[in-house]
Amino acid sequence: MIADEIATGFGRTGRLFAVEHAGITPDIMCLGKSLTSGYMSLAATLTTRRVSEAISNNPPGALMHGPTFMANPLACSVAIAGIELLLSGNWQQRVAGIEQLLWQGLKGFADHPAVADVRVLGAIGVVEMREPLDMAVTQKILLDHGVWLRPFGRLLYTMPPFIIKEREVASICHAIGAVLDIGRLNDP
Ligand SMILES: *Cc1c(COP(=O)(O)O)cnc(C)c1O
Repeated sequence: MIADEIATGFGRTGRLFAVEHAGITPDIMCLGKSLTSGYMSLAATLTTRRVSEAISNNPPGALMHGPTFMANPLACSVAIAGIELLLSGNWQQRVAGIEQLLWQGLKGFADHPAVADVRVLGAIGVVEMREPLDMAVTQKILLDHGVWLRPFGRLLYTMPPFIIKEREVASICHAIGAVLDIGRLNDP
């Protein structure tokens, strides 16, 4: 079983890794993005010993793995520094706080006719629309409110940094609300 924790790893969902919510241990886990807190490009593939031995103790084949920049020392140092900073701080409290603020700011949108669902987990807030969003229109409204989000199909979502301030979460939620108000105007 492979768990892709590239987006969800390192506390994002309120647990250090999302697999903890399900109480499962994957055979392979993919990490990236916040592995270096986003400061440098680095990704990692973790495996159980059983999987790694099957790869390493056999002749090089389909799973031969040796990228030029593998285990880049500078990127690894950044990752270690970032992980130490995360684990030495009160990330659980921070993420729980962001979760509460996101829910406060977004839950009211659930009744909007253009909205299919509103979901919050940890420092992830999602407004799922009934129809795909017009990327250009949506981003203009968001930018006019000083917020940069990247809508994805029917999803208008935010995954803010854990250092975000209360008023900044409110700004993001307000900007999402502004997108919905345009949606309401366009509603026949
Ligand atoms: C960003 C992302 C990827 C791609 O990761 P790369 O390190 O850019 O290859 C894969 N899965 C998820 C869930 C992601 O968010």
